[in-house]
Amino acid sequence: MPARYNPGEIEKKWQQKWAKDRLYEVTEDDPRPKWYALTMFPYTSGDLHIGHWYPMAPSDVHARYKRMQGYNVLHPMGFDAFGLPAENAAIKRGIHPFTWTMQNIDNMRRQLKSIGAIYDWSREVVTCLPEYYKWTQWFFLKLYGAGLAYRDKAPVNWCPQCQTVLANEQVVGEGVCERCGAAVSRRDLEQWFFRITRYADELMEYDGIDWPERIKIMQRNWVGRSQGTEISFGLDHPGVDEKEIRVFTTRPDTTFGVTFMVLAPEHPLVGRLTSPDRKSEVEAYIEKSRLQSEIERLSVEKEKDGVFTGAYAVNRLNGARVPVWIADYVLLSYGTGAVMAVPAHDERDFAFAKKYNLPIPVVIAPPGWGGGELVEAYIEPGTMVNSGQFDGLPSEKGIEAVSLFLEKKGWGKRTVSYRIRDWLISRQRYWGAPIPMIYCDKCGIVPVPEKDLPVLLPEDAEFKPTGESPLKYNEGFVNTTCPRCSSPAKRETDTMDTFMCSSWYFLRYASPHCDSAAFDSEKVKYWLPVDLYTGGAEHAVMHLLYARFFIKAIRDIGLVDFGEPFTRLFNQGIIISDKQKMSKSKGNVITPDEYVSELGADAVRAYLMFVAPWEQGGEWDDSGISGISRWLNRLWNLVLAEYRENQPGGQSQAEAEMFRITHQTIRKVTDDLEKMRFNTMIAALMEYTNFLGKVKEAGMVAAIAWAESIRTLLLLLAPACPHIAEELWQRTGHHYSIHNQSWPVWDEELARDEEITLVVQVNGRLRDRVAVPVSISEAEARQLALGQKRVQPYLEGRQILNIIYVPGRLVNFVVK
Ligand SMILES: [Zn+2]
Ligand SMILES: [Zn+2]
Repeated sequence: MPARYNPGEIEKKWQQKWAKDRLYEVTEDDPRPKWYALTMFPYTSGDLHIGHWYPMAPSDVHARYKRMQGYNVLHPMGFDAFGLPAENAAIKRGIHPFTWTMQNIDNMRRQLKSIGAIYDWSREVVTCLPEYYKWTQWFFLKLYGAGLAYRDKAPVNWCPQCQTVLANEQVVGEGVCERCGAAVSRRDLEQWFFRITRYADELMEYDGIDWPERIKIMQRNWVGRSQGTEISFGLDHPGVDEKEIRVFTTRPDTTFGVTFMVLAPEHPLVGRLTSPDRKSEVEAYIEKSRLQSEIERLSVEKEKDGVFTGAYAVNRLNGARVPVWIADYVLLSYGTGAVMAVPAHDERDFAFAKKYNLPIPVVIAPPGWGGGELVEAYIEPGTMVNSGQFDGLPSEKGIEAVSLFLEKKGWGKRTVSYRIRDWLISRQRYWGAPIPMIYCDKCGIVPVPEKDLPVLLPEDAEFKPTGESPLKYNEGFVNTTCPRCSSPAKRETDTMDTFMCSSWYFLRYASPHCDSAAFDSEKVKYWLPVDLYTGGAEHAVMHLLYARFFIKAIRDIGLVDFGEPFTRLFNQGIIISDKQKMSKSKGNVITPDEYVSELGADAVRAYLMFVAPWEQGGEWDDSGISGISRWLNRLWNLVLAEYRENQPGGQSQAEAEMFRITHQTIRKVTDDLEKMRFNTMIAALMEYTNFLGKVKEAGMVAAIAWAESIRTLLLLLAPACPHIAEELWQRTGHHYSIHNQSWPVWDEELARDEEITLVVQVNGRLRDRVAVPVSISEAEARQLALGQKRVQPYLEGRQILNIIYVPGRLVNFVVK
């Protein structure tokens, strides 16, 4: 009897040996082609469950597969360690964010090690350590030097609960904070921004990279490029110097139908345009809109309201005086902060005009329009009417014609507008990389000299949710001297958005211990860009967009020679339990530790692959992992039990079949790994195990052929279940390590299905013979028979009454 499969024992043993032998550590002076496989590094939330393993296990399998294919594989791991949760934990539980974070990292590292992945831990990166954030600050200075970082006063999203500014991307649903769910309001603050808008067009291009279509669509929508026309409306208002209000529209063909204009409540002209009798109402409205978030203001469900300012502008095309209103659905930060309203041809304007009894003249006639009032906005193309010299023109042509006319008159110009705003990176929080800037009364804004980096985060800080950074009250931190004139000066007390830390961590892995630069250029040249990046799709418009911007920016600064960080992107789904996302509050969290100690990491890895297609994710099920565990036990016993040859007589046929199935399995598993179909890969390995079980029982193949098949089984198993594969490799007399072996290759000739001849009859008379694979299904056989040229003339114009199928023999069409 062979020894029993004891994963607890063998997994620890091999993990220690691999670590001791530095089996997975890589260098750059290696003749093999490089492969950089990267999994999004986890946030150090301390909330550890099987959901953390889901992105990790299959990506490790793929990296191991590339390694066996002969690549020099870098597959690093690290921790995204700055951010709000650490600070919230500090406030709630009185633990210093550093202590909380490092404790979580220790636990997560231990867990991640128990996965048995090929992570090269000597390259670990932790973003909250000074040796890392020194370079985050250095990059900030580089962007500042290139004019890509600037300070500006701007209305920002403010979470009253977290007491901090939020990026637009962190405001979700009906204007609530992504982290705590509180309603978000607006505030004006001096902030630091990165000029991501300068890269808007390039961010919409994906040439030469292989990314999921839905992520590209989300990013393109986020950038929101639209072609349109900027139109100038005349302004002649006592006491106001400006002689025009500019609006952006994608429908200049409707300009003759403008019956009012709407300004954002924050628009700088509002105060001066408002007539004395409208003043109190306008001011009350502005106050109300300040309390709302951008998302709330733009919500389609919300009824649109507004206030008339008492002022008028002139539609230069027809000389009409149009009243100027303010409404919170217009944002100052979008376009020009002013819109022209064409109620007949815009749904929002239509509702607004109905509510306030404003005229709704038709200027684009729907087909068959009889001149009557519209019951709803008509937004489709039509014929221009009530539009002066443009009457009768199809509206699609009118877009161009009206734009040309406006340009000729100097009343407008064709232009492009974007939805994306510059990236707000200031956070009024402690647990982040301090922004390396100094304010001097004499010199103004002065960057910290590079030699003075890092600007260290002081350890002593008072954590109170005051809305201002705790650093503001830390005298020792705030007070400094100006690097330029040596006068007393003050430090910037905001810290950087953690998305800045994660915009470059993949560069740091190339040379994690480099202390003279953010990265070693030669090593980055060798490893980057990342060949395969895997992680959740929820990062589509934040991390993934920011990282692309960041690389393009430092490319233009001359620090790297590529413009896309991630050549191929793959998004996995999530693991749920009890039909919902795992969370502590719902009490449905599955922790990996107990399964690892009971069934083994190999079983957990294989189950996470088997449970569902990786890109979809699926439901954790205890009976499912038990099934996987039983398979590994069966496999263990199959490999170790003695093989006995039975009847030497029938070997050649049995061996041919075994080779065929073996080579088909190699082909299937390889193809599945290439396409990241881990679930069907595991299924193929299970089938192969079952098949070999039958071969063993029959004992019809030679012992040497049997051993060859077992060797192939172990090699194919090695990426998915690295521990049991290594143990069985050793126990079957092979040299350590299985993970240094080459990936098996299949022989197309050997993998070819055995063929049989299928007879095709019509009314019992032979009409054709077709060579088909032995495994052909009935449906396939019928389809094939129907399509045969020599059979068709006998079927033409006849009615097929019945199709008789004799498996492996014939198809007979009964016709009349
Ligand atoms: Zn919040
Ligand atoms: Zn100074």
